[in-house]
Amino acid sequence: MTITQFNVGTLLQEPVGSRREIRFETNNSSAHPDENHRYFYGLAEMIKIQQGILVSAKLTVADVTMNCAGCLTEFTKEINIEFQEEYLPTYDLETNRPIPADEDVFRINNRMILDITEAIRQYTETAIPIAPKCREMCAGICTLCGKDLNQSTCACDSNEADNQFGPLKEYFK
Ligand SMILES: [Zn+2]
Ligand SMILES: [Zn+2]
Repeated sequence: MTITQFNVGTLLQEPVGSRREIRFETNNSSAHPDENHRYFYGLAEMIKIQQGILVSAKLTVADVTMNCAGCLTEFTKEINIEFQEEYLPTYDLETNRPIPADEDVFRINNRMILDITEAIRQYTETAIPIAPKCREMCAGICTLCGKDLNQSTCACDSNEADNQFGPLKEYFK
């Protein structure tokens, strides 16, 4: 079972400032290399605000897949994210009037379920470094033969050095 959905029906009817603290996590067995099935766990605080609920979450997303900027190898890394987002219900519980909002606003569904999965997905994407490294000192790939230099060295280095001085050698002949 994945605990990323919370029924906020009661909290929505409580006075502004009422809060809940919720620990959540995805079940380990649901961990999957697919980016939508990442394993994550953390803490979320939900505070009733005027029209909806303010969620402050702090969590760890395990096994985020990325490609090393140096050697292009795919690897996984744990990422910590933190966010604060407002979630609005689709209608006002007291007046039954619809609550309009922009498309990018997080919504609480009609069954009063607040689901933080999409926010986690978005914040995780943002947290992935632009040029991730598989290790501190990634040796990268050889620009000449394409060999992964973390695995083995190649013969290109010395050849390249030779080529650099090649023209000079010719000159001094
Ligand atoms: Zn690398
Ligand atoms: Zn090479």
